[in-house]
Amino acid sequence: MPFKKSKSKEGIEHQFWYYPEHPERLEPTSRYSEEILDFLAEEIGIPYPWGTYSQVMVQDFLYGAMENTSATVFGDFFWIDDRAYLLNRNYVSVNAHEATHQWFGDLITGRKDNEQWLQESFATFYPGLVEGKLFSEDHMAWYFRNNMNGAIAAGRENSLPVRHSQSGSSRHYPKGASVLYMLQHQVGRENFRRAITALFQ
Ligand SMILES: [Zn+2]
Repeated sequence: MPFKKSKSKEGIEHQFWYYPEHPERLEPTSRYSEEILDFLAEEIGIPYPWGTYSQVMVQDFLYGAMENTSATVFGDFFWIDDRAYLLNRNYVSVNAHEATHQWFGDLITGRKDNEQWLQESFATFYPGLVEGKLFSEDHMAWYFRNNMNGAIAAGRENSLPVRHSQSGSSRHYPKGASVLYMLQHQVGRENFRRAITALFQ
Protein backbone atom coordinates (compact mmCIF):
# COMPACT_ATOMS: atom_id res chain seq x y z
CA MET A 1 0.00 0.00 0.00
CA PRO A 2 1.60 3.33 -0.99
CA PHE A 3 1.44 6.36 1.24
CA LYS A 4 1.71 10.09 0.84
CA LYS A 5 4.24 11.66 3.16
CA SER A 6 3.86 15.31 4.07
CA LYS A 7 4.61 17.71 6.89
CA SER A 8 2.23 19.99 8.71
CA LYS A 9 3.39 23.59 9.24
CA GLU A 10 4.25 22.60 12.80
CA GLY A 11 6.68 20.05 11.30
CA ILE A 12 4.75 16.88 12.15
CA GLU A 13 5.30 14.05 9.67
CA HIS A 14 2.01 12.97 8.20
CA GLN A 15 1.47 9.65 6.41
CA PHE A 16 -1.67 9.02 4.39
CA TRP A 17 -1.92 5.39 3.25
CA TYR A 18 -4.07 4.64 0.21
CA TYR A 19 -5.02 2.08 -2.42
CA PRO A 20 -2.82 2.16 -5.54
CA GLU A 21 -5.91 2.15 -7.78
CA HIS A 22 -7.47 5.55 -8.56
CA PRO A 23 -4.51 7.69 -7.41
CA GLU A 24 -6.53 10.76 -8.45
CA ARG A 25 -8.63 10.18 -5.33
CA LEU A 26 -5.72 10.80 -2.98
CA GLU A 27 -5.92 14.60 -3.04
CA PRO A 28 -9.71 14.99 -2.51
CA THR A 29 -9.72 12.30 0.21
CA SER A 30 -6.75 13.65 2.16
CA ARG A 31 -7.60 17.32 1.52
CA TYR A 32 -6.84 19.66 4.48
CA SER A 33 -5.30 16.89 6.64
CA GLU A 34 -2.20 18.96 7.45
CA GLU A 35 -4.22 22.17 7.93
CA ILE A 36 -6.51 20.34 10.39
CA LEU A 37 -3.60 19.25 12.61
CA ASP A 38 -2.10 22.76 12.55
CA PHE A 39 -5.44 24.38 13.34
CA LEU A 40 -6.11 22.05 16.28
CA ALA A 41 -2.65 22.57 17.77
CA GLU A 42 -3.18 26.33 17.62
CA GLU A 43 -6.79 26.33 18.82
CA ILE A 44 -6.19 23.90 21.72
CA GLY A 45 -2.94 25.69 22.49
CA ILE A 46 -0.98 22.46 22.87
CA PRO A 47 1.36 21.20 20.11
CA TYR A 48 0.43 17.91 18.43
CA PRO A 49 1.52 15.47 21.16
CA TRP A 50 3.04 12.62 19.12
CA GLY A 51 5.99 12.23 16.75
CA THR A 52 4.04 11.37 13.59
CA TYR A 53 0.43 11.10 12.45
CA SER A 54 -0.73 8.30 10.14
CA GLN A 55 -4.05 7.66 8.47
CA VAL A 56 -4.94 4.42 6.77
CA MET A 57 -8.14 3.32 5.05
CA VAL A 58 -9.51 -0.19 5.44
CA GLN A 59 -12.33 -2.23 3.91
CA ASP A 60 -15.66 -2.92 5.63
CA PHE A 61 -14.86 -0.85 8.68
CA LEU A 62 -17.53 -1.02 11.35
CA TYR A 63 -17.51 2.75 12.05
CA GLY A 64 -16.67 5.82 10.01
CA ALA A 65 -13.23 5.92 11.57
CA MET A 66 -11.34 5.14 14.77
CA GLU A 67 -8.49 6.93 16.39
CA ASN A 68 -5.48 5.26 17.95
CA THR A 69 -2.59 7.16 19.48
CA SER A 70 -0.81 8.72 16.46
CA ALA A 71 -2.78 6.67 13.89
CA THR A 72 -6.35 6.78 12.56
CA VAL A 73 -8.11 3.99 10.69
CA PHE A 74 -11.02 4.98 8.45
CA GLY A 75 -13.52 3.28 6.15
CA ASP A 76 -12.66 3.22 2.45
CA PHE A 77 -16.13 4.59 1.64
CA PHE A 78 -14.37 7.94 2.13
CA TRP A 79 -12.00 7.12 -0.77
CA ILE A 80 -13.66 9.66 -3.03
CA ASP A 81 -13.02 11.61 -6.21
CA ASP A 82 -13.42 15.33 -6.81
CA ARG A 83 -17.07 15.05 -7.75
CA ALA A 84 -18.05 13.13 -4.62
CA TYR A 85 -16.09 15.67 -2.56
CA LEU A 86 -18.35 18.44 -3.87
CA LEU A 87 -21.41 16.38 -3.05
CA ASN A 88 -20.30 16.56 0.56
CA ARG A 89 -19.44 12.89 0.79
CA ASN A 90 -15.99 13.89 1.95
CA TYR A 91 -13.73 12.95 4.83
CA VAL A 92 -13.06 16.48 6.19
CA SER A 93 -15.34 16.45 9.22
CA VAL A 94 -14.51 12.87 10.26
CA ASN A 95 -10.83 13.61 9.65
CA ALA A 96 -11.09 16.58 12.06
CA HIS A 97 -13.02 14.44 14.58
CA GLU A 98 -10.34 11.74 14.72
CA ALA A 99 -7.51 14.27 14.73
CA THR A 100 -9.11 15.95 17.78
CA HIS A 101 -8.95 12.61 19.58
CA GLN A 102 -5.16 12.83 19.51
CA TRP A 103 -5.63 15.41 22.28
CA PHE A 104 -9.05 14.46 23.70
CA GLY A 105 -8.95 10.69 24.03
CA ASP A 106 -5.25 9.94 23.63
CA LEU A 107 -3.38 12.71 25.48
CA ILE A 108 -6.10 12.99 28.14
CA THR A 109 -8.74 10.34 28.50
CA GLY A 110 -11.78 9.31 30.55
CA ARG A 111 -11.45 6.52 33.09
CA LYS A 112 -15.05 5.26 33.12
CA ASP A 113 -18.04 4.94 30.79
CA ASN A 114 -19.69 8.06 32.13
CA GLU A 115 -16.62 10.07 31.10
CA GLN A 116 -17.00 9.19 27.42
CA TRP A 117 -18.21 12.71 26.70
CA LEU A 118 -14.67 13.88 27.44
CA GLN A 119 -13.53 12.23 24.24
CA GLU A 120 -16.58 12.45 22.01
CA SER A 121 -18.04 15.87 22.86
CA PHE A 122 -14.73 17.62 22.22
CA ALA A 123 -14.11 15.52 19.11
CA THR A 124 -17.52 16.62 17.80
CA PHE A 125 -17.05 20.25 18.85
CA TYR A 126 -13.69 20.96 17.18
CA PRO A 127 -14.69 19.83 13.65
CA GLY A 128 -17.26 22.66 13.73
CA LEU A 129 -14.46 25.17 14.35
CA VAL A 130 -12.35 23.49 11.66
CA GLU A 131 -15.20 23.90 9.16
CA GLY A 132 -15.56 27.53 10.20
CA LYS A 133 -11.87 28.10 9.51
CA LEU A 134 -11.72 26.15 6.22
CA PHE A 135 -15.10 27.10 4.73
CA SER A 136 -17.12 29.87 6.40
CA GLU A 137 -18.78 31.09 9.59
CA ASP A 138 -22.09 30.19 7.98
CA HIS A 139 -20.89 26.63 7.44
CA MET A 140 -19.93 26.45 11.10
CA ALA A 141 -23.32 27.77 12.21
CA TRP A 142 -25.08 25.07 10.17
CA TYR A 143 -22.79 22.42 11.64
CA PHE A 144 -23.72 23.39 15.20
CA ARG A 145 -27.39 23.82 14.33
CA ASN A 146 -27.49 20.21 13.11
CA ASN A 147 -25.81 19.07 16.32
CA MET A 148 -28.27 21.03 18.42
CA ASN A 149 -31.24 19.53 16.57
CA GLY A 150 -29.82 16.04 17.20
CA ALA A 151 -29.48 16.82 20.90
CA ILE A 152 -33.03 18.20 21.12
CA ALA A 153 -34.40 15.07 19.41
CA ALA A 154 -32.59 12.87 21.97
CA GLY A 155 -34.09 14.98 24.76
CA ARG A 156 -37.56 13.81 23.69
CA GLU A 157 -36.58 10.23 24.56
CA ASN A 158 -35.26 10.85 28.09
CA SER A 159 -33.49 13.49 30.14
CA LEU A 160 -30.27 11.69 31.00
CA PRO A 161 -27.37 14.14 31.39
CA VAL A 162 -24.30 14.21 29.14
CA ARG A 163 -22.20 12.71 31.92
CA HIS A 164 -24.11 9.45 32.26
CA SER A 165 -22.98 6.00 31.10
CA GLN A 166 -26.42 5.24 29.60
CA SER A 167 -27.06 8.61 27.97
CA GLY A 168 -26.02 7.31 24.56
CA SER A 169 -24.21 8.68 21.56
CA SER A 170 -26.68 11.54 20.90
CA ARG A 171 -25.60 12.99 24.23
CA HIS A 172 -21.90 12.15 24.10
CA TYR A 173 -21.49 13.57 20.59
CA PRO A 174 -23.99 16.31 19.52
CA LYS A 175 -25.29 17.37 22.93
CA GLY A 176 -21.83 17.68 24.46
CA ALA A 177 -20.61 19.56 21.37
CA SER A 178 -23.61 21.92 21.62
CA VAL A 179 -22.88 22.59 25.30
CA LEU A 180 -19.24 23.35 24.51
CA TYR A 181 -20.33 25.69 21.71
CA MET A 182 -22.68 27.45 24.15
CA LEU A 183 -19.91 27.75 26.76
CA GLN A 184 -17.57 29.18 24.16
CA HIS A 185 -20.24 31.72 23.24
CA GLN A 186 -20.83 32.62 26.91
CA VAL A 187 -17.23 33.17 27.97
CA GLY A 188 -15.87 34.33 24.61
CA ARG A 189 -13.60 32.46 22.25
CA GLU A 190 -10.34 33.73 23.69
CA ASN A 191 -11.23 32.90 27.32
CA PHE A 192 -12.53 29.52 26.23
CA ARG A 193 -9.29 28.79 24.40
CA ARG A 194 -7.23 29.77 27.46
CA ALA A 195 -9.32 27.48 29.70
CA ILE A 196 -8.88 24.55 27.31
CA THR A 197 -5.12 25.03 27.15
CA ALA A 198 -5.04 25.09 30.97
CA LEU A 199 -6.80 21.70 31.04
CA PHE A 200 -3.64 20.07 29.75
CA GLN A 201 -1.25 21.84 32.10
ZN1 LIG B 1 -14.89 9.87 18.29
